Amino acid sequence: MVQIDPAPARAGAPEPPRPGPGTGEAAGLAVRDVVVRYGGRGAGGARTDPGTTAVAGVTLDVAPGEILALLGPSGCGKSSLLRAVAGLEPVASGAVAWDGRDLAGVPVHRRGFGLMFQEGQLFPHRDVAGNVAYGLAGLPRAERDARVTELLDVVGLAGYERRAVATLSGGERQRVALARSLAPRPRLLLLDEPLSALDRGLRERLALDLREALRATGTTAVFVTHDHDEAFTVADRVAVMDAGRLLQVAPPEDLWRAPASRRVAEFLGYQAFVPTEPSAAGRAMDRRGPDDDAPGASGGLLAIGPRGLRMVGSPGSDAESGSSSGLGTWAATVVGSVFRRGAVEVTVDVDLPGTDEGAPARLVALASGAGGADAPGPGPGERVRVVVDPAGCAVVAT
Ligand code: ADP
Repeated sequence: MVQIDPAPARAGAPEPPRPGPGTGEAAGLAVRDVVVRYGGRGAGGARTDPGTTAVAGVTLDVAPGEILALLGPSGCGKSSLLRAVAGLEPVASGAVAWDGRDLAGVPVHRRGFGLMFQEGQLFPHRDVAGNVAYGLAGLPRAERDARVTELLDVVGLAGYERRAVATLSGGERQRVALARSLAPRPRLLLLDEPLSALDRGLRERLALDLREALRATGTTAVFVTHDHDEAFTVADRVAVMDAGRLLQVAPPEDLWRAPASRRVAEFLGYQAFVPTEPSAAGRAMDRRGPDDDAPGASGGLLAIGPRGLRMVGSPGSDAESGSSSGLGTWAATVVGSVFRRGAVEVTVDVDLPGTDEGAPARLVALASGAGGADAPGPGPGERVRVVVDPAGCAVVAT
């Protein structure tokens, strides 16, 4: 964790504002057409090769108090964008502004932003209180102690003041790092994969606590992650990035319900895409409630979500109830099944209609019906039927 500005409220006046082109008057963070490039320059700054364009023209706003997740596969430019906002990376073109003021030329420590990384990088020779108080050097002792106590409470570590850093678990260390980055009240907190060094269960818990802590302190935040569950848990809005560009920015529910493209849907974990009749797609989406944005009425690809397929029985059995979705039932061959998260998940091979990938698609279907954990799933090689569950699907443009 690097605290960029230990005490923004007391560190003197921020750099004089310089109105920039196209930054508008938006409150909070405004990112306009930002490009970040690496390399490509030899001695004397002469361009030697094209280099890498890590961020290829991103425009984005983060309102005061909002938590925005930057979500995308590794290498898509999330960290580069975050670092450009922090001032750690120069922007090749475009602008970063806060409250309508261009931050070009404003050094990292004058931006009033905080940064937290994957490894909290605590000071090993300081105890917990000493770490949290790091950015509060200008405060009178009593005020500083009160702020440390308050922040440790916010991150669920009340009473940990005197603990040595070496005695903390990985999760506790990240909580201390979070308390330290929140203590000076940064006007924007930039978090780069802060949970990804932790194991899965802990990550899920900490993601919830992280959201609580940001909310409780009213902190505006940009949170980088490659994990869509984490993004959905923590953020008010999720910005999906791919190859240096933004594909879609939306609240988690909207993103899930109406991914803007096949690429976004793939990244969210939609498992298969089936060309579909306009009428059938439209009917399927109607079942999910009104949604003016869904491209169902004009046809497209039916995107089958991780919970968008149900197993309804063996072929020839009376399992046609599923076809009422208008999207068909398909014969499938069981590969295996596991009991996970309260349901039997059956991995099946299905010949999907309208896809010409040659091999059957390997998909996961939920086994419906009574029995729960005690009911054995179907065995490998068994022939079954699967049906699309519109509630777990979306329609995306081809
Ligand atoms: P993400 O955070 O999404 O994993 P990054 O912003 O770290 O992506 O990287 C985006 C692209 O920029 C990648 O191709 C990466 O290899 C490249 N890159 C990142 N940092 C540097 C650097 N310091 N020098 C050269 N290339 C870099």
